[in-house]
Amino acid sequence: MSSLLAVGSVAIDSIKTPFGSRDRSLGGSATHFSVSASFFTDVAVVGVIGEDFTAEDESVFHEREINTNDLQRVPGGKTFFWAGEYGFDLNTAHTLDTQLNVFGDFNPKLSDEAKKSPYLFLGNIQPTLQREVRSQVDARFVAMDTMNLWIDIARDELIKTIGVVDALIINDAEARQLAQEPNLIKAAKAILEMGPKMLLIKRGEYGAALFTRDTYFATPAFPLENVFDPTGAGDSFAGGFMGYLAQTGNLEDMTVRRGIIYGSIMASFNVEEFSCDRLRRVKQEDIQNRLDQFNEFTYFDFEDSPNPRKRSARKVATTAALAK
Ligand code: AMP
Repeated sequence: MSSLLAVGSVAIDSIKTPFGSRDRSLGGSATHFSVSASFFTDVAVVGVIGEDFTAEDESVFHEREINTNDLQRVPGGKTFFWAGEYGFDLNTAHTLDTQLNVFGDFNPKLSDEAKKSPYLFLGNIQPTLQREVRSQVDARFVAMDTMNLWIDIARDELIKTIGVVDALIINDAEARQLAQEPNLIKAAKAILEMGPKMLLIKRGEYGAALFTRDTYFATPAFPLENVFDPTGAGDSFAGGFMGYLAQTGNLEDMTVRRGIIYGSIMASFNVEEFSCDRLRRVKQEDIQNRLDQFNEFTYFDFEDSPNPRKRSARKVATTAALAK
């Protein structure tokens, strides 16, 4: 049994960025997620591919020792296809084409092993499919992602799925759209009312924020000069986050915060090259180096301040501000 199970798209993408394009790029929410999470824990993928998915496409799963027993191959079928484009605002992906192909009639029947996974990630795919997988797994902690397409065309189904997870991980534009509320703090409160205990909002190059009913935490993104292809940033963020939670086995406040930092670091590697090209070459020491830098540039205290403050006093103030 793997500690962490992920369902989502395994895709062939066609990507255009201001710096280059690639017609056939290995992608998909489950792909980026599982490659990222595999640096922290043992991961298994639930999904479906077509006959056009090559041994080269599949090699990254084997290289990262990701369990593919629940990755079905449909003879004669075509793999999920997504075409996307980015302008100089790399935080916004413009979808040019989405072809569900083999995902159109995917009916996930999980193996007994997969059903026992303690951590589950419902990657971006139709919300009904996410719920079908969720209902089969008796997990301790379940997180999910989604995107504007499903908020547009399957809103009711999506809200039902959000109601059966512990954490929702989405970007700021999606949060505003889902809550129908332009203010992000109010949007976060409205989304927490839908059921999840935790909401993580990704803000691209500006970082990420965590909302619970009574706490708030935010971090910048790792500063990068060369962002090449942002595809999969959100999934590799979720992979680092969930991978770290599964590795530590607890859900304490500081573990969750560290998970967000690991997620941000994995996303920073992911965006440096097309597909998972950079992520798959990462070494544990590269992660450690970025972790040390992150610690350095987010650190501050009041120890030698003429007006020292206790941490607990500040914590209460933050909580009170959100509770208003
Ligand atoms: P991200 O950049 O992390 O939001 O995710 C990018 C990945 O999502 C790409 O590799 C696509 O293959 C995949 N993707 C795009 N649209 C969809 C969709 N409607 N359902 C599932 N996966 C999608």
